[in-house]
Amino acid sequence: MPRPLTARIDHDALRHNLALARGLAPHSRLMAVVKADGYGHGLLRVASALRGADAFAVLTLEDAVALRDAGYRHPVLLLQGFYESVELPEIAARGLTVVIHEATQLDMLLAWKAPRPVDVHLKMNSGMNRLGLPPDQYRDAITRLSAWPGLGQLTLMTHFATADEPAGIVWQMERFEDASRGIDAPRSLANSAALVRHEPARSEWVRPGIMLYGVAPSVETAAGDLDLRPAMTLSSRIISVQQLAAGERLGYGGTFTADRPTRVGVVACGYGDGYPRHAGTGTPILVDGVRTRTLGRLSMDSLYVDITALPQAGVGATVTLWGEGLPAQEVASAAGTIAYQLLCGITRRVPAVEVGVLDPAPRASVVV
Ligand SMILES: *Cc1c(COP(=O)(O)O)cnc(C)c1O
Repeated sequence: MPRPLTARIDHDALRHNLALARGLAPHSRLMAVVKADGYGHGLLRVASALRGADAFAVLTLEDAVALRDAGYRHPVLLLQGFYESVELPEIAARGLTVVIHEATQLDMLLAWKAPRPVDVHLKMNSGMNRLGLPPDQYRDAITRLSAWPGLGQLTLMTHFATADEPAGIVWQMERFEDASRGIDAPRSLANSAALVRHEPARSEWVRPGIMLYGVAPSVETAAGDLDLRPAMTLSSRIISVQQLAAGERLGYGGTFTADRPTRVGVVACGYGDGYPRHAGTGTPILVDGVRTRTLGRLSMDSLYVDITALPQAGVGATVTLWGEGLPAQEVASAAGTIAYQLLCGITRRVPAVEVGVLDPAPRASVVV
């Protein structure tokens, strides 16, 4: 029998979440963010389920090329553009869209003789201070870019730092609008949090990522409140049962001490699979669909679950680490992290099992 740990990837849930995101911004075009191997779900798997999107966004040229090789003809945005000008010929040949977020990057682009028009998302730093041209250089960059013979479609872009916090997006929207007023080009503004919470961010393009995978973009909102469905369910089984007497300790470092007779299920899942190592005693987990808690310090290949109150649960009992019935967000909070990190931290040794209606991939012979 194979190791019982699997990541179930639900294509119906992905499609459902996409439809929900579209419903929130019916007048916007939707770019599905599929970076980090589709937030850990598998790039080509999610592209297949999310092909109804108007475009895809990835980080690496390799991922963009993989989408083209699989036959996807959607616009594909490189979220950090390119790092060296040697990448430009391939970008043009593959018909990819680049983010330009920085002055030297813009210089590299303008110095290049593009063999065909290249679509550009020109990114402004409106206050997050991560990537983007400063507002006072934005207009000048647009002027220079517009004079460049290689330019295809220009889109104006920014990214919000506090869309899911009380500070909101208004402070950044003001800077963005001031610096781009009167410029006739589509805008791309909203990540999931802004899409869900801030109507003004629903511009010509929206760029949701996390919500497509069924995770609520803000910690106060439960995914179910938005009717999002988890696209990944990480599940396994109990492979051993230990009975601890009061006073006995458990696992590496003996960090958990039983204060009463305690029945412990040993689950085939550990940090080597991507389960967060900082998840201490008390992290929520389901055994046969019933919520209980983890115990002690997990190992690379296994973790401990309290089944004292579940006498029927023994070796072979089904365990849900997160997903259906247990939002990844809750596990993440207990481990001091965020659901994004759990999803994209799933390691290669965890086999994916695809469920739901599977669309066949487009024909690989179709190349832009
Ligand atoms: C990752 C990313 C997104 C998607 O963000 P979510 O919070 O997952 O919706 C959107 N825009 C940019 C620039 C990103 O890097």
